[in-house]
Amino acid sequence: FGNLSDRLTASFQSLRGKGRLTDADIDTTVSEIRRALLEADVALPVVRSFTSAVRDKAKEAVRSQVLNPTQQVVKIVNDELVEILGGTTREINWADRGPTVIMLAGLQGAGKTTLAGKLGTWLTGEGKRVLLVASDLQRPNAVTQLSVVAERAGVDVWAPEPGNGVGDPVRVARSGVEQARTHGYDVVVIDTAGRLGVDAEMMDQAVRIRDAVQPHEILFVLDAMVGQDAVNTSVAFRDGVGFTGVVLSKLDGDARGGAALSVRGVTGAPVLFSSTGEGLDDFERFHADRMASRILDMGDLLTLIEQAQRAFDEKEAEEAATKMASGTFTLEDFLSQLRQVRKMGSMKKLLGMIPGMGQMREALESFDEREVDRVEAIVCSMTPAERRDLSILNGSRRARIAKGSGTSVQAVNELVSRFEAAKKMMEAMASGGLGENGMMAGM
Ligand code: GDP
Ligand code: MG
Repeated sequence: FGNLSDRLTASFQSLRGKGRLTDADIDTTVSEIRRALLEADVALPVVRSFTSAVRDKAKEAVRSQVLNPTQQVVKIVNDELVEILGGTTREINWADRGPTVIMLAGLQGAGKTTLAGKLGTWLTGEGKRVLLVASDLQRPNAVTQLSVVAERAGVDVWAPEPGNGVGDPVRVARSGVEQARTHGYDVVVIDTAGRLGVDAEMMDQAVRIRDAVQPHEILFVLDAMVGQDAVNTSVAFRDGVGFTGVVLSKLDGDARGGAALSVRGVTGAPVLFSSTGEGLDDFERFHADRMASRILDMGDLLTLIEQAQRAFDEKEAEEAATKMASGTFTLEDFLSQLRQVRKMGSMKKLLGMIPGMGQMREALESFDEREVDRVEAIVCSMTPAERRDLSILNGSRRARIAKGSGTSVQAVNELVSRFEAAKKMMEAMASGGLGENGMMAGM
């Protein structure tokens, strides 16, 4: 998704560092997103609904004057990506009784036979007994290919032998399922024939196999590299055989993302798995949220945003931001912010998740969680007047505070100067977004 990622990330650039966004800012960003999606071969109806949802939600966020509107826009885009990628992953439709029958469908070269082996490996790991059934009798070596894959996966294979239904993929499928039933297999995976393009005879054969074995799942295998054709092929299979789930294959290649982003929206069927290589282990459950992050290519930035949202009391944070910007931020506010930040988890870990925070991270490498306790003790030993105005802190006041907090005058002095420095930094951050070394720098 290199290019799509770059384009989407670039579309946020114009928002970077802006404390307030206008509707025009949103429109610009949304049209950049639209162009990025179209260039990545995402189907037009999907692009339309995606961009209009993002536009509406982003403008709504701007109207309600959220803190960090740019982060909000990024989050909205992420959430919409998750949405069109299908939300949460569903389980396989397991059979109530007897073997679960999974039929594979898709064009030739999509990755069906490879997938059969991957499913065999994965399901075996899940404690299932698996039988692969060779119902692709189109190509001379298709049966051999499945047998090789089955052997590598360490699962059994049901293939036609003389007198065992040679030449009739429907009979092989039916007898394979029968075999599974009588021999106590948990799952039957039926490999079928594809053609290079959508073809009536192929579709008819798939329909006859489907009707003969009544699969619990029909997985449509889609090569993620095919670009715009993905939509036509998906629709043809949906209308021809129908399917209950999608497997995206070849996601390891330089897929532009269009197939991944379109197939759910166009067919309504969820993506259940993805294939990321030729090896039997290059296979995983498809997770819309992870795919969205991968497309946005932002490391753990979104995790961070979510954590921050959970931990911060929005109103309090907003008040703090106002105070920071106007220079009326006090040590007491500082303490409450420090406590909020600590709620988010270890400070260092947190900073590690922010792209472009290297310099800040270094500065805070010496940050000690116990330091917050010391700060708390010192601030608590100050009078309200002192907390509001550090300039009144003369030598005797400092000595009193040191004693009261069980620290030293040096510790009090350090805190005061660090606070003054932090205040300057916050004022700079508040006036210039997060600045060059801030959160948006790495995007
Ligand atoms: P089928 O015609 O649908 O059965 O497709 P195959 O399983 O025979 O796969 C066609 C080709 O694609 C083979 O060379 C596979 O090794 C390769 N292939 C399948 N899945 C993937 C994948 O996820 N990534 C990559 N890079 N190659 C794959
Ligand atoms: Mg095959």
